Order: sequence, then structure tokens, then C-alpha cells
Amino acid sequence: SFTIASRLADLPRPATIAMAARARELKAQGADVISLALGQPDFPSPPEAIEAAYAAAKAGDTGYPPIPGQKPLIDAIIRKFRRDNALDVTSDRIMVANGGKQVIFNALMASLEVGDEVIVPAPYWVSYPLITRMLGGVPVEIRCREENGFRPDPEAIREAITPRTKWLVLNFPNNPTGAILERHDLEAIADVLREAPHVLVMSDEIYEHLTFDGKKHLSLLSVAPDLADRILIVNGMAKAYAMTGWRVGFACGPVPLIQAMVAVQGNATSGVCTLAQAGSVAALDGDADGIGRMLETYERRRGLVVGALQQVPGLTCVMPDGAFYAYPGIAALIGGTSGQGRLLDTDVAFAEALLDEVHVATVPGSAFGYSPYLRLSFAASDEQLVEACRRITQFVGDIR
Ligand code: PLP
Repeated sequence: SFTIASRLADLPRPATIAMAARARELKAQGADVISLALGQPDFPSPPEAIEAAYAAAKAGDTGYPPIPGQKPLIDAIIRKFRRDNALDVTSDRIMVANGGKQVIFNALMASLEVGDEVIVPAPYWVSYPLITRMLGGVPVEIRCREENGFRPDPEAIREAITPRTKWLVLNFPNNPTGAILERHDLEAIADVLREAPHVLVMSDEIYEHLTFDGKKHLSLLSVAPDLADRILIVNGMAKAYAMTGWRVGFACGPVPLIQAMVAVQGNATSGVCTLAQAGSVAALDGDADGIGRMLETYERRRGLVVGALQQVPGLTCVMPDGAFYAYPGIAALIGGTSGQGRLLDTDVAFAEALLDEVHVATVPGSAFGYSPYLRLSFAASDEQLVEACRRITQFVGDIR
């Protein structure tokens, strides 16, 4: 027998994955489950990406790639930053990884000493605090209030900074709330950072293209270019290009950090799958209208879901400005009893009862460090979303 390393000992299993597993189990038993739990676009990957991957395979592009990324993809990423973010970056500031997630892992692995603090505004995507803890760091949560559109308060960031702070994580458009930051928000945060020159910023912009009502994502780096030696941009192909399974993410950051991240990756996974890199070049340089069409669909579904949820007595639901999640609050329903007699004392109990009783899989807000809420992905068909909202309305109506 053996013991698992202590760095993993009390690491919780992400509730996103736990809910998806429970939904799969129910499905396997024959239940008609609608899963709104995963952040996975329901569109096919761009055809040009598939063609390019195939062509690369046939052309023999099947050897070990350079660890930071193949030149054609690095060049396409440089073009992307110029086109989408008005940023001129050099190739030594870029690296390619197995998804945005590995970018985050590489960065924290390359920089955290045991006890270093990572400020994570809540609600947050689960992986930032989990990876931080796995590496001996200490996640420090600040709360983004719903009344403030789930945007972080610069004062709260200032107060959370200590001499041990290594990173501030910013993820906008945000998973799970869909909040985006305006120029004045970014300027206020940049001012706080200028007073704390020891703090690095991880700006996870993986949802940058998914913004609604004509609003546009702004990158912190374009607002505060003077902070370039402290900002790491995390991005990737998964969300905007419906390429979750290709596992391609990329980073733009200060040269010494990128070099250290490349060293981490070189000892973990080496470079990213060559065929996936070839596909990513084609997607990045390809049909920009593809993103626009997906966006239109997401925007229609957002109206559908948020509109329906806002009609349900006891739920509150702000209109998200970006990403593809609704994040309804369920405070008024906590303490009630479900139709089948379960005490709904937490959002976890609520999400479990919702799944077991009406077969709608969501993720409880506690997974994102912010309760009592639910996250519903609207990366699902209109029919599924309408039916899910009908079931949620029925479930809530039966609560006593
Ligand atoms: N960052 C955020 C905020 C996410 O929601 C996700 C995926 O859910 C990722 C990063 C990771 O994406 P990838 O699939 O590229 O690893």
C-alpha cells in the first residue's frame, strides 16, 4: 500500500466534475437528464481547423514539437493579439500549452513558494484555488458583490494584498457570472497594482470573444501597458472556437516567467500535439464570422434562459454581459423543502435535488466560492434550455 502525497490529501474534487459524473450516472440509468453543468460549447469545431489538422498529419507533421509552441501557431497568436487586443507582442512573450488550464498550472508551478498568496475574486472558476492549494499556495478570496455586477472592488483588492501576495487573478468575461470589466474598472485595478510592484496579474481572457449587447472585452494589458512585465494573459481555443477537446491554450507574459513556464511544461507534457496546433492556426486565421454566428446563438439563448429564470418567484438572475452562463441566486429558497421532501439547506442540496427530482444538472455556487447560487450553462440547444427552465420552474413551484 502507499500514501498519496500530502499536497493532494485534502484537495476537494471540483463540484463541476462531480455534478457531471452524477448526471452521467442518472443518464446511464435511463433518466432524461438535461446537463447544463459543463462549460462546453455545443458547436462543432471550425471545419478549417479539422482540415488543417488532417493535412498536417498527412504531411508528416507528427514529430515532437518545440516546447513553447510551433512557429506557425506562435505567429498566428501574435496576429491574434494585434487584431483582437491592439497589442504588439514578440514571440519570446508567447507560449502554447495543453489548454488554458495548463497555462495556469505552468504559471503557478513556476512562481509559487509554499505559503505564497493568490488573490482570487469570488465567484471564481474552480481551478485557480485548487491549483494554488495543490502547489502549497494560499488562495485569498475577495467577494465580488452581485449589486456591483459581480465586478471586484479595487479597494477590496488593495486590502487583500500582503507582502506574501504573488498573484491577483482576474477572469473577465467571468466564469461563472459572465461579468465583464469596463475601462474604468481596469484603470482602477491598474492603479492598485502600481502601488504593489511585487504582485503579478493572471488575466484569464478565455471568454474574450463571448460578449453580448455589442459590448467588447478589453484586455488589462492594453489599458495598462506599463504593467507588461507583471501581466500574464491566459487564453485558448476552447471557448471561442468550440475546440475544448483539442487542448490548446496560450499565454502572453513577461519573458522570464514564460521561460520558467516553458521549463515546467518541458518536464510535464512537452509541446502540444502538432495536429492540434495546425488546427489552431487555421481557426485563429480563419472565418471570423464563425464566432459571430455562435455569439448570436448564445445571445438568443441567454435571453431565453435569463428571461425564464427571472419569472421564477424566489430566483434572482442578473443578465450576464459575457461567457455562456447564467448565475441565478437562490437565497430566498434556501431552508425550504423540495417536492420530494428534501431539505434545501444549501445550494449543494438544491443542485442535487434539482438533478435527482427533475433531472436538470447545474453546478452549485459553492463550487465557485459564492453561495447560494447555481450556475447554468447555456451552451445547449434552445429546446433543452426551454425544457430545463420549465423543469426548474416546476421544481421551485413545489418547494414548501
Ligand atoms: N479559464 C476559464 C475561466 C475556464 O472556464 C476554462 C474552462 O472551463 C479554462 C480557463 C480552461 O480552458 P481549457 O479547456 O483551455 O483548459
